[in-house]
Amino acid sequence: MPQKLFNTKTRKKETLRPIKEGVVGMYVCGITAYDVCHVGHARAAVVFDVVFRHLKARGYDVTYVKNFTDIDDKIIDRANKEGVDIARITERYIKIHDEDMAALNVLTPTVTPRATEHMTDMIALISTLEDKGIAYAVDGDVFFAVDKYPAYGGLSGRHLDDMMAGARVDVNDKKRNPLDFVLWKKSKEGEPFWESPWGKGRPGWHIECSAMSRKYLGETFDIHGGGEDLVFPHHENEIAQSQAATGKPLANYWMHNGFVKINAEKMSKSLGNISPIRDIIKQYHPEVLRLFMLQSHYRSPVDYSDTAMKETRTALIRCYSALQLMKETQAKLVSQTIDRLHSDEHKYADKLDELNDKFNEALDDDFNTAQALGYVFEAARLINNINTVEKKMSAGTKKTILDAAAGVFSHFGDVLGIFQYDPDVFFHADRNIEAGKRGLDVFRIESMILERQKARTDKDWNRSDDIRKELASQNIILKDSADHTTWLIE
Ligand SMILES: [Zn+2]
Repeated sequence: MPQKLFNTKTRKKETLRPIKEGVVGMYVCGITAYDVCHVGHARAAVVFDVVFRHLKARGYDVTYVKNFTDIDDKIIDRANKEGVDIARITERYIKIHDEDMAALNVLTPTVTPRATEHMTDMIALISTLEDKGIAYAVDGDVFFAVDKYPAYGGLSGRHLDDMMAGARVDVNDKKRNPLDFVLWKKSKEGEPFWESPWGKGRPGWHIECSAMSRKYLGETFDIHGGGEDLVFPHHENEIAQSQAATGKPLANYWMHNGFVKINAEKMSKSLGNISPIRDIIKQYHPEVLRLFMLQSHYRSPVDYSDTAMKETRTALIRCYSALQLMKETQAKLVSQTIDRLHSDEHKYADKLDELNDKFNEALDDDFNTAQALGYVFEAARLINNINTVEKKMSAGTKKTILDAAAGVFSHFGDVLGIFQYDPDVFFHADRNIEAGKRGLDVFRIESMILERQKARTDKDWNRSDDIRKELASQNIILKDSADHTTWLIE
């Protein structure tokens, strides 16, 4: 099945036809480095990370460019408030961003350009627009004249006349038209600046993406992505700048991920409900947050809440329990000879192949991670069945099937960026997070488990049972295997 993707530009699901066969250029708008990343940034990062991973898994040679905006009014404000250089602010928040992305297992894009390192490219692009009469300079500022670009509004489906009618009279009286947007800003006293043909100043926000995508991906590239909130004006302005300069389309496919709501409300500073990634991953294992994002189709809105995260944690634990069982069984069977599969056992091998194909096809169909996860959960149930239902299955057959299951799971995990931990390591981290959240003493719990083991060795079943019950009263569930006991906080 060829790769399909929903194109915001045409409002249709289309077949991906890269400019160069087998090669995909993708540009996604990154963060403005003035504050910590929140759950909305996590979503965009995870969504396009899966696009990147799936296209690579399907054999495409992908160049993924994601920028850092490291010069902007908000950065300057923050630097002024703290009385430091803007570089101090941007370095700090880019570092935090990188740590958050690593925790969420987001792959580093191929290129991560920064605006301040591309001043020459931006100035050259603005000059081209000025030479063509599409941009005009007024007293050190440069604006894009939207009425010189009749296709303006094409991505968001807005018409220039309607926008004109609805436009407020702008306080900036330097603009010829209230819809014109800034390409270059004259710097005020004490602000950071770069030399330019229009004097000391800094770029407007939109121009960096036009300049950097062109530099790394060419005048026209395949996929441009970002959050839905960027369609207008940011992406519309990127298109206007680039296409007016080159006369060619900027990108062939435009992908946008939906909003993140918090407890069914819009996320906003005024509501005080912005959830930083750093805070969330103190409450939940980072894979829970990642899985939460993947449970919805990327174009649908998601509603972040504690209830939803608890449910996601349960789903992830179920998968890791299956993986743990698989690993333990495989280890026990390691020395067994491998039988040929008997006909009634073929069903498992066939089913795994089928789930693997369906998983790939769900992602081929506009990156439907929600559907793909359905097949992952089905595969986890299948592993449990092999271990619990198929008592009669020969050891060799079981091993063959479990090895195949391990391969399938490793593919699922690599493409979705989950199941990246050894189950024991995952459960250990999850226990510590939950214990911290509920004020439980891990050391005390483990001492009680040891005491219970001793009671069991001494055949003191009453004592052993009392300890189990006491732990259960704190939602601590023990799992006994032949040689050891693990635990989980429910
Ligand atoms: Zn951008």
